[in-house]
Amino acid sequence: MTDPEPAVDRTRLAELYERERDSFRQARPRSAALAEQSRRHMPGGVPMSWMVKWPGDFPVFVERAGGAHFTCVDGIDHVDLCLGDTGAMMGHSPAPTVAAVTAQLSRGITTMLPTQDAIAVSAGLTERFGLPFWQYTLTATDANRHAIRYARHLTGRRKIVVHDYCYHGSVDEAFATLDDDGLTGDRRNNIGPPVPTSDTTRVVEFNDVEGLEKALAEGDVAAILVEPALTNIGIVLPEPGYNEAVRDLATRHGVILINDETHTICAGPGGITRRDDLHPDFLVIGKSIGGGVPCGTFGFTAEVADRIARSVELEDIDVGGIGGTLAGNGLSMAAMQATLEQVMTQAAFEHMIPLADAWADGVQAAIDATGAPWHVTRLGARAEYAFSPEQPRNGRLAAEADDFALQQYLHLHALNRGILLTPFHNMALMSPATTAADVEAHTRMFAACLDELFGRG
Ligand code: PMP
Repeated sequence: MTDPEPAVDRTRLAELYERERDSFRQARPRSAALAEQSRRHMPGGVPMSWMVKWPGDFPVFVERAGGAHFTCVDGIDHVDLCLGDTGAMMGHSPAPTVAAVTAQLSRGITTMLPTQDAIAVSAGLTERFGLPFWQYTLTATDANRHAIRYARHLTGRRKIVVHDYCYHGSVDEAFATLDDDGLTGDRRNNIGPPVPTSDTTRVVEFNDVEGLEKALAEGDVAAILVEPALTNIGIVLPEPGYNEAVRDLATRHGVILINDETHTICAGPGGITRRDDLHPDFLVIGKSIGGGVPCGTFGFTAEVADRIARSVELEDIDVGGIGGTLAGNGLSMAAMQATLEQVMTQAAFEHMIPLADAWADGVQAAIDATGAPWHVTRLGARAEYAFSPEQPRNGRLAAEADDFALQQYLHLHALNRGILLTPFHNMALMSPATTAADVEAHTRMFAACLDELFGRG
């Protein structure tokens, strides 16, 4: 028998990590050369600063991606369990999206006028999520920002309530956490906040109904911005009745409820909102619904639509802080129309969710075999392991279980064996193109990795 709860030997971890760094460098000379070249004009050699957070000494340059795999410039095939952190949840370059986008490319990309696709996309979103009205952006971040602006406009209040350790894109109000005294403050390393987040935001713990009630009681809250399950500090699931209590409190305090389904769409074709029959005032989603083509959208109730219509002057509509020149462009609309109608279907989820369950079963079995005090959490087509014995009930507990060095090692070990996990946490996402063989490849690799880490190999 092994030790029932083996601890990670940090010296061994450091040695194994060095070995993996060596293998990484040796196997990827072409990526290494391109990274060197890239550093001349891009800090860190990457087009966006957070791309340096991947494991390994330099980013892996992609040659081509298709379905659930990609090949890097060194000719190595990878199972992609990150899928562009949900941007490619429907697989890389799904054929219906490619066909629609290809046809639209030669018919005009952007005109600042609507195309007919917008009608079908909006009707399809209504059928999927239940909200009758939709507006478009290029990112989920922008959709969140716009929903927040409307909420402030409609309520005449300033504060936004968010969950501790939430992530909603680069939305200023959401870079706040609770400090040890339970007060709202800037999240660690919040870069250049325009004002202290305590001016704009009140943070509450996930699954804390009482805390939320207190946060709303002051009467200055415009909106509650939530993911119906946290997905960006690992997965934190709602306790039974939590999302319903949030709705109830929002209604009682005249606060606008915004459900951000950008990641939780993994729960099913209508996200958690539809699965659990939730009724937000706004629903935000981006990334996956365009099959990877930039797009975002926010839907809202008839009541909200009416209040907006009565309070925003046509004359000022372009300078009110809501909008974007490329928003609703023909290309994004064509991508959303094809993806929503032909790719992001019920049948797709019936393929994806059992695969995520199989991934979770495999990972849990490998963990159990070592006795490591870790757990696995499932959310539809997404699953994740974390370094604590039980599922955390809020973001802070999830953050406390984080182990950056261990995570970097596990991710690099996987990458060196042709498997890409989502950076920032230990998450795997299934696409309609992911296969049982892809999942089994991960299970085998992960079991061998743990055997080695805990000295069983
Ligand atoms: N909402 C959630 C829940 C997200 O996880 C993210 C990005 N990870 C966003 C919004 C923002 O998406 P984007 O960066 O595409 O604007």
